[in-house]
Amino acid sequence: MYDFIIIGAGVIGSSVARELSKYQAKTLCLEKENDVANVQSLANSAIIHAGHNPEPGSLKAILSIRGNLLYDDWEKDLHIPLLRTGAFVVAHNKEEESKLEDILETSRKNKVPNYEILSGDQARKIEPNLAKSITKVLSLPSTKVTYPWEVAFACMENAIDNGVEFQKNKLVTNISVIDGGFEIEVNHKEKYRTKNVINAAGVDSSNLGAFIEEPPFQIKPRKGEYFVLDKRVEGFMKHVIYPLPSDKGKGVLITPQVHGNILLGPSSEYIDDLHKAKTTDEGLAYIKKHSTALAENIPFHMIIRSFAGIRSTSTYDDFYIKESSENKGFYYLGGIESPGLTAAPAIGPYLVNEVIKVKNNYHPKADFNPYRSQRLEFHRLPWQEKKKLLDEDPLYGRIICKCEKITEKEIIDAIHGPLGSHSIKGIKKRVRAGAGLCQGGYCEEKIMKIIARELDISPLDLEYDDLKSKLFKEETKVKK
Ligand SMILES: Cc1cc2nc3c(=O)[nH]c(=O)nc-3n(C[C@H](O)[C@H](O)[C@H](O)COP(=O)(O)OP(=O)(O)OC[C@H]3O[C@@H](n4cnc5c(N)ncnc54)[C@H](O)[C@@H]3O)c2cc1C
Repeated sequence: MYDFIIIGAGVIGSSVARELSKYQAKTLCLEKENDVANVQSLANSAIIHAGHNPEPGSLKAILSIRGNLLYDDWEKDLHIPLLRTGAFVVAHNKEEESKLEDILETSRKNKVPNYEILSGDQARKIEPNLAKSITKVLSLPSTKVTYPWEVAFACMENAIDNGVEFQKNKLVTNISVIDGGFEIEVNHKEKYRTKNVINAAGVDSSNLGAFIEEPPFQIKPRKGEYFVLDKRVEGFMKHVIYPLPSDKGKGVLITPQVHGNILLGPSSEYIDDLHKAKTTDEGLAYIKKHSTALAENIPFHMIIRSFAGIRSTSTYDDFYIKESSENKGFYYLGGIESPGLTAAPAIGPYLVNEVIKVKNNYHPKADFNPYRSQRLEFHRLPWQEKKKLLDEDPLYGRIICKCEKITEKEIIDAIHGPLGSHSIKGIKKRVRAGAGLCQGGYCEEKIMKIIARELDISPLDLEYDDLKSKLFKEETKVKK
């Protein structure tokens, strides 16, 4: 019998897994996808918000302010990349300027550090491409940007290193209450028993609760679409640029990314399907229209990709992080929409220490290792180090992804790593092969061959993304 089973390995399930790995408890994390961070944590703006937006006193406010600070520890301990961009919330006229005062007041109440108001001209001296129509700006220097996939990998790798079990391709298909805990059915056949369940299933969190009770909230999925600009635009905007928020959320933003790309988006649209993250002509047109209010001459010709994500907005007006009132030992992490990525480093400790109070029943591990080793990025190394590695393994000399300069050895390490990946997208998430200008047009075929060779599998078994995304249907030119 497990002490804890976590359902879902997005940034939230992974943060909880790491926090539980500090205790002498038997913990398992089950994920329905073939990788961590494949749903909400895959497709978002990557911003570590300053805390200027959430209602003062709410869990969203408290945990996002804590989370923003804790990212500095995670950067050191877990090697999570951070870009300290700062942010500007912009106003275009007197009416908007008075709304900016409200956000300033929220920032004051939430104890956001070092915020200040700048005139449009002062802001344009710092960001010359800011729209000329902008009259006032709220500057939020503590805003940062991270790489969300790496956040989930880092936490889960560190949790595994400290004894947590992780199993992918495990869809939870039923939960029943048993004596002393719960029985979890996976893929309609296997069964696992546990004393406690941590429901970190994102958009599916209320459906999972419904296996055992009337869930305390419902998810109202809200889609957001984006454009990605090539990293050659790096420096076009150095700050995150927010419009004033509306009833549709934070609005369409301009967001520099840690690898030099810029994101435009997201849109905001309630949809019926919890899982249908598809871009549309209307959604993308909306982004173009609204981003032009923020900046002059946006280099739209540098768009290399579009994508969509689904927010787990809920009928409860805040993060729902509570134990079930009917079934003790069943914990909800529901409605973790934005600023969930920001709050992730605080949500694990909040659940484990303040809600479950794990310390009352389990001893801390004396040998807990808080550190995770850094992923090697060959092209960033000084020449002497490159030479040393090349002498050790000539595959560091074989560049597979020319856009991002990723070597064959880095791809092989990603396939066999602690959270090894066997899909094209999994390799892209780990080492950025295929994330550049050609979007995999040049390297995908080579990566397929490397995966098939390393795992000794047929190309017919290769996946692009999830288990349903087989790359090939059948062989067409079979030698007789
Ligand atoms: C468009 C958009 C923009 C955003 N921008 C930001 C931002 O800039 N800053 C910020 O702080 N936050 C942002 N967010 C919010 C942030 O992305 C989320 O709060 C965070 O990713 C939530 O993580 P999670 O682990 O709860 O959910 P998820 O990443 O969705 O993880 C849930 C996991 O549960 C698994 N699962 C579900 N059902 C089952 C089952 N039956 N069996 C097994 N596994 C199951 C899923 O496969 C999934 O991997 C944004 C979100 C979106 C969609």
